[in-house]
Amino acid sequence: MNAAFSTFIALFAISGVLSILLALYTSFQKNHFSGIRLFVWMSIVTAIYSFGSSFELASDSLEEIKFWVTFEYIGLPFISPLNLLVVFHYVGRERLMTPKATLATLTLPAISSLMMLTNDFHHLMYQNIQLRTDTPWPLIDFTMGIGYVINGSYTLACGLVGMWMLIRHMRQTLNVYRKQTATMFVGLFIPIGASLIYTMNLTPYHIDPVPATMSFTNLLYCWSILSSGMLTSTPVVRENILESMRDGVLVLDPAGRIADYNKAASQLFPFLAPSLIGSRAVEVFPKQNLLSEDADMSFLEAEERQIEWLDVDEIRYYRIRSSPVYHRRGGILIGRTVVILDVTENVLLHRKLERMATHDGMTQIYNRTYFVECSERLLTDSRQTLEPLSFALLDIDRFKLINDTYGHDIGDQVIRHVVHSCKIYLGDRDVFGRYGGEEFALCMPGRELDDAYSLLERIRRELASGPVMTSAGPVKVTASFGLSAAHRELPLKLLTKQADDALYRAKQGGRNNVQIAGLSDSEADSGSQQLQPTGDAPLSQKPDGEAASG
Ligand code: GH3
Ligand code: MG
Ligand code: MG
Repeated sequence: MNAAFSTFIALFAISGVLSILLALYTSFQKNHFSGIRLFVWMSIVTAIYSFGSSFELASDSLEEIKFWVTFEYIGLPFISPLNLLVVFHYVGRERLMTPKATLATLTLPAISSLMMLTNDFHHLMYQNIQLRTDTPWPLIDFTMGIGYVINGSYTLACGLVGMWMLIRHMRQTLNVYRKQTATMFVGLFIPIGASLIYTMNLTPYHIDPVPATMSFTNLLYCWSILSSGMLTSTPVVRENILESMRDGVLVLDPAGRIADYNKAASQLFPFLAPSLIGSRAVEVFPKQNLLSEDADMSFLEAEERQIEWLDVDEIRYYRIRSSPVYHRRGGILIGRTVVILDVTENVLLHRKLERMATHDGMTQIYNRTYFVECSERLLTDSRQTLEPLSFALLDIDRFKLINDTYGHDIGDQVIRHVVHSCKIYLGDRDVFGRYGGEEFALCMPGRELDDAYSLLERIRRELASGPVMTSAGPVKVTASFGLSAAHRELPLKLLTKQADDALYRAKQGGRNNVQIAGLSDSEADSGSQQLQPTGDAPLSQKPDGEAASG
C-alpha cells in the first residue's frame, strides 16, 4: 500500500479512536460543565466520520466507497453545529440555546444525513461519483450537488460563528482562562483550515484531510482537559463569579505585576486597561488619588487596610484585602489576589450614626453624654499636665416665657441663636455641649478662672446686646452663667454641681449675669484658694436688668 495512503488511513483511524476515548472520558467526568453532553455527542459523530473516512480510504471498490461515504454522513454534518453548541455553553451563553434553538441548529445536519442516505434516488448531495483512474489506490471523483454545497456552507458558517464567539469571549475573559479558550478556538480552526486546503486542491491525491486533522483537534482537547481542566465547570464558574462580583479583584504575580483584574475592579479604577497587564501595580495606581494618611501603595500587599480614594470629585472608601496565593503543590508563592470592597456607604453611615450618637440634632453641638465623656477626659488630662480647667453652665433666662409667647418653633430659633453666639467666642480647645433643654455646658481646658470668666462675660453681653431676629420678629434673650474651676482631685460631678450652684445664684441674683463657684462650696479644699476668688462674692456685674422678652 502506498505510504501516503497508509498514513492517512492510520490518522483517520487514530482520530476515530481518540474521539471514542474523549466521548467515554468526558461522559464519566464528574465535574461537568453544562455543555458536556453536547461535547460527548460531538466526539461520537466525529468518531463516526473518522472511522468512515478510514474505511473509505481502505476500500477497493466503488460500492464499498459509496457505502462508507454514506456512513460518514451519519456524523459529518453534525460535527460543526455541535461544536458551535458546545461553544455557546463554554462562553456562558447556554441560555440562548433553548431546546428549540438546539433542535433548529441540528435540523439541517439531520436533513443532510437523510439526503445522503437517499442520494441514489435524487442525487442532490452527490450528482455522480466515479472511481478515479489517476491514483494508485481506488479513490473517487464526484460532482457536488446542491445539498453538498448547502451542507458545506452550513458547516463553515457554524465554525466561523463559533470562532467569532470565542474571540469575543477571549477579550472579556480573565487571563488565566485564555489558554483554554484559545484551545477551543484552535480546535475549531484546524478542520476549517483543512477544508480550505482541500478545496484549494493542495492535498496529495486530493484526499480530504479533515478527518486526519480531527485527530489533532482531539489530541488538543485531551491535553487541555487533562492539563488545565478544560470542560470542567470550575473555570467557567470561577470566571462567572469573578466577573459578577461587585467587589473588585486584582491578581498580581509574585513580582507585584498586574496579571489580571475583573470588571468591578475596572469600574472602581477606570484607569485599569488591558495594556497595563504586566505593569507593576504600585506604579499603575496614581498616588495623588490616595488620600489616606500613610499614602503609599503598600495597601496592595497589606493583609487588610482601608483607604480613602479620590474618585473624580468625591471621596470613596475602599477596604482592601490582599492575600498571597500559593501553588497547590510545593507551596510556592505564585501571586496575590487583592480584593477591593467599596465601603463608602458603610463609612458614611457609620459616621452619621457616630455623629447622631455624639451630637445634638437641633444645635449640632455635643450632646450631654458625649460632652460629659469629653470633659472627663479633659479633666484627667488637666490633672496630669497641671493645666488649669474651667467649667461652666449656661441657662437661657425665662425661656418658658419665650416658648409661651412665641411658640416652640421660635423657641428653637432662639436656642440655635444662643449656640451660634457662644461659638463665636469659643476657642479651639473649649468643649461645648447641650446639657438639657435650654441649658448648655462648657469645659474649658487651659483657661484660668478669670480667663473663663471674661469669656462668659463676652458671651453674656453679646446675647444681651440685641434681640434675636426670628421669623416672628425680634425676641430679646439673655442667659445666666455658673462657673467653676478644677482643682486637685475634684471629680466632674462636683465641678458640675459647683457650676450649677453658681448658676442658681446667678438666677437668684436677677439673671443675665455670671457667677463663680466660691469657697463656701463645701467640697473645695484649701488648695482651691489659689484658684481665685474667695467666698461667695460674685465676680459678675450686677444684672443689666434685661430679661427675656415677652
Ligand atoms: P429660668 O430663667 O429660671 O431658667 O426660666 P426658664 O423659663 O428658662 O426655666 P424652665 O426650666 O422652667 O423652662 C425651660 C423651658 O424650656 C421648658 C421647656 O418647655 C423648654 N424647652 C426645653 N427644651 C426645649 C427645646 O428644645 N425647644 C423649645 N422651644 N423649648 C424647650
Ligand atoms: Mg432657663
Ligand atoms: Mg433650665
